[in-house]
Amino acid sequence: MPATAQTSSMAYIPSPAPDPTAAMLDRVSAVVRSDLAPLVKAIDEDHFYPADVLHKLGDAGAYASHVTALNGGRLDLAASIKAMSIVGRECLSTAFCVWCQSTFAWYADNTENAALRERYAAAGGSGRQLGGTGLSNPMKAFFEIEKVRLKGTRVAGGYVVRGMLPWVSNLGPDHVFGTIFETDDPTPRRVMVMIPCNHPGVSIVPTGEHLALDGTGTYSVQIRDAFLGDDLVLADPAEPYVKKVRQGFILLQMGMAFGVIRGCIDIQRQMQPSLGHVNKFLDDQPDELEAALETAEAECWELAQSPLDESGGRWRRTLEARLRGADLSLRAAQAAMLFSGARGYVEAGAAQRRLREAYFVAIVTPATKQLKKMLADLEAAGA
Ligand SMILES: Cc1cc2nc3c(=O)[nH]c(=O)nc-3n(C[C@H](O)[C@H](O)[C@H](O)COP(=O)(O)OP(=O)(O)OC[C@H]3O[C@@H](n4cnc5c(N)ncnc54)[C@H](O)[C@@H]3O)c2cc1C
Repeated sequence: MPATAQTSSMAYIPSPAPDPTAAMLDRVSAVVRSDLAPLVKAIDEDHFYPADVLHKLGDAGAYASHVTALNGGRLDLAASIKAMSIVGRECLSTAFCVWCQSTFAWYADNTENAALRERYAAAGGSGRQLGGTGLSNPMKAFFEIEKVRLKGTRVAGGYVVRGMLPWVSNLGPDHVFGTIFETDDPTPRRVMVMIPCNHPGVSIVPTGEHLALDGTGTYSVQIRDAFLGDDLVLADPAEPYVKKVRQGFILLQMGMAFGVIRGCIDIQRQMQPSLGHVNKFLDDQPDELEAALETAEAECWELAQSPLDESGGRWRRTLEARLRGADLSLRAAQAAMLFSGARGYVEAGAAQRRLREAYFVAIVTPATKQLKKMLADLEAAGA
């Protein structure tokens, strides 16, 4: 008998409405357990890019909650951050791919170019079309840290673009990414576009090896006089659009931080039965880190309720939250190392992988140094 049925002998008890976010997070957890966990070593050591897992995470809904095209206009950024953190608790490389994918879908969902939105928002949010974001260089350029690396010339029906981006992740021959170039007009304008990796004039070249994060489909992108039609333009000029999407871009990264922090706390707890009698003298006990994590999560869930609204100091709070997320990632990874002792220091130790991964949270754009500069600039402007 259905739980909602009313009988003469029973009061009417409605069954609780199914919680779609909880169901999505359960599905993501199941993919992580069955498909991702067995691959973590290959991802970290052999630089294996887990495209199939990324598609399965897409089927589970990991990139969909913040994509209005898939949710009848509803936007739930926190659910996508939570999904990413479940992945990051196991593997930060894959959580970074999840961030790239979620951000790619976020760009497509927020463009006023209806045809481009139609082409990529639902496809990106469902993981059918994999893609990434090449916004590190422009994000640094917007804050006067470096110059825009891609240049474009206006021609009939589009732009001819050239230049090189040193790192773009979650790429492959049939992937797509969003980025920004600067026009060579006397008064240069910045234009944001989607670029398919197999577009004529575009090539992706493997990068050198890194400390970690090499199983992320990371390439340098070379663009040699590629014609990018107006159909690929996300925003022209880019600035108002970037201002719209940048808070979501940064808040989504919190999923990486929360995941790696929780993974490090897991390691600390695993060490307790054998080493608890001496680990208790260390700073940063798991309960303390967990409390700090919960405080950071609470702030993030509040900011994530309205990622398109920067008013009332929300932009500053977003930058501060992101900075605290990076700091706490490093603290937790260091604590996991110290709690593990020699078990963490051996090559196959889980703690040393988490330590190498955690540094990425602090160096991926906006890196800790950029966040501190941005906050100092806000302070100087009295904002
Ligand atoms: C594994 C990995 C994946 C990344 N994925 C992405 C991505 O998907 N999208 C994205 O936009 N960015 C990506 N980045 C770049 C990242 O977001 C940061 O921009 C980068 O880590 C440097 O940031 P920073 O602020 O510390 O700059 P800094 O390191 O202080 O300065 C960066 C600048 O230094 C120069 N530089 C330094 N080392 C090199 C090098 N080896 N090759 C070429 N130039 C160099 C370049 O001009 C570069 O822009 C990735 C980086 C890494 C290591």
